[in-house]
Amino acid sequence: MVSDKMVNEPEARSLNFIEQIVEKDLAEGVNNGRIQTRFPPEPNGYLHIGHVKAICMDFGIAEKYNGVCNLRFDDTNPVKEDTEYVETIERDIAWLGFKWGKIFYASDYFQQLYDLAIRFIKEGKAYVDEQTAEQIAEQKGTPTEPGVASPYRDRPIEENLRLFEAMQRGEIEEGKMVLRAKIDMANPNMHFRDPIMYRIITSHPHHRTGTKWKVYPMYDFAHGQSDYFEGVTHSICTLEFEVHRPLYDYFLDQITGENFAGLSPYGPDYRPKQREFNRLNITYTVMSKRKMLQLVKEGLVAGWDDPRMPTVCGLRRRGYTPQAIRTFMDKIGYTKVEGMIDQGLLEHVIREDLKETAPRVCAIFDPVKLVITNYEGEGETIVAENIDGHPELGTREMKFGKELWIERGDFLEEADNKFYRLSPGGREVRLKASYIIQATGCEKDENGNITTVYATYDPNSKSGTEGGNRKTKATINWVECNSAVEAEVRLYDRLFAVENPSAEEGDFRDLLNPDSLKVVSAKVEASLAKAKPQDHFQLLKQGYFVVDDDSQPEHLILNRTCSLKDNYLK
Ligand code: ATP
Ligand code: MG
Repeated sequence: MVSDKMVNEPEARSLNFIEQIVEKDLAEGVNNGRIQTRFPPEPNGYLHIGHVKAICMDFGIAEKYNGVCNLRFDDTNPVKEDTEYVETIERDIAWLGFKWGKIFYASDYFQQLYDLAIRFIKEGKAYVDEQTAEQIAEQKGTPTEPGVASPYRDRPIEENLRLFEAMQRGEIEEGKMVLRAKIDMANPNMHFRDPIMYRIITSHPHHRTGTKWKVYPMYDFAHGQSDYFEGVTHSICTLEFEVHRPLYDYFLDQITGENFAGLSPYGPDYRPKQREFNRLNITYTVMSKRKMLQLVKEGLVAGWDDPRMPTVCGLRRRGYTPQAIRTFMDKIGYTKVEGMIDQGLLEHVIREDLKETAPRVCAIFDPVKLVITNYEGEGETIVAENIDGHPELGTREMKFGKELWIERGDFLEEADNKFYRLSPGGREVRLKASYIIQATGCEKDENGNITTVYATYDPNSKSGTEGGNRKTKATINWVECNSAVEAEVRLYDRLFAVENPSAEEGDFRDLLNPDSLKVVSAKVEASLAKAKPQDHFQLLKQGYFVVDDDSQPEHLILNRTCSLKDNYLK
């Protein structure tokens, strides 16, 4: 069962296309061999597994090429951002095992960005537009038809300056004016048609700068300049930003080279370069913070860390390990082609990981009592290996006695000869890690339901002794009645009933899988009474489980990470 080669060992693989770019830059001495990346989350939600793909790239490049990866909070929209998110993002990245160099905030640059905006206005490269968002959108044109110039496009520089300053002083109402870059209303790249650089937000204070700023920079104006101020060399992001790249470069061209504004210690020729890779999409889930927030707010899941959520904290609570998540990222790789990854691959990776490490224990989900009529002892302790055949992975103690819980389905009063488990009539069955027994009969209640199964055991058949080598056609699981621990077992399944909820029409909430959580109770081995949150187990024949964060010694809660059966390889 346990292979020599651990699944976690990253397989030798060829360089991905970003690594190839980095190696070429290093070979050509670009930026004097300096490698600096950043991971730039907006603190408006929790990190999800899509972000982890970006994290593995950003931190991975820095680790591999002796560079540094900084964490930058892209906090330019106070309406949706909060310090709660900043804290959880840091916690989740640390849990994944990555180390950032420094922590930056785009809001650290609000003054520099504002000063740059003033410079753009003074150079005739930006103007204040008083039209509504709808009017501006209508004038954008189409990729084949040029846009229409705003009536405010050619207003005098002095007026633009005065109005922009009034915007920042809070004298203009939110939504009434924006600052636009004056570039080219006929450019085939729609992002060049006088993109918005600044908007007014006075309705929400910023989680770091309070009410100091009334105007906030847009992504396109903030992101590239932030990269530049920090000295980022490779600004890696997802493919939807590819069409923004010329604008990223345009804004940087205005302040570097012959326009050098002295805002970077690396000189006039230094420029960060944006590179894009494909986003991660996974079947049967959604990967948008907006939709996840809706699920959380409406109580459709138990929180951001609900084990059905694709968030980092949800995956952790589901029983995913950082190593398994990183192995998954290695397997899917980085390309320029958008696609959808089978959720089965994610499950496959954690199953392979846990297969190597999770101790096996007995748990009885649908119990019926078994009485061993010829067992006269006070009970005994059986020492069983955590993983059969692997004494190096430790052992545990199992209580054995006269009365055991077994699975109801492991006994049939009348069985044909294809049924190898317990049934009266002389067939021998081994109790896992202990004795061989034979069923002798059963007792029923007035409705005909079996309440007790009776059996006899062979005292000379104990596993680990000479008699223990005797083979039976079936082995069944059991838990001793007096010492059994009752566990609440949460059987999680995929969150959505359809493969790609984002591609369906209508409300995505109608597509939730109604059976994504079933709660049952089970009798488990006494050894589990000492289990702590985040301990992993294989419940024999049931699947892989992790102890929930809310679990208490007197109320054990186990979350199903994944089933035992792997459908992915088929
Ligand atoms: P959402 O659309 O869910 O709000 P976002 O892209 O706006 O997500 P950010 O916080 O801006 O979230 O993302 C930070 C970084 O993570 C960005 O570089 C972004 O490209 C990357 N990222 C986000 N989602 C994915 C994904 N599904 N696959 C790969 N990278 C992603
Ligand atoms: Mg974003």
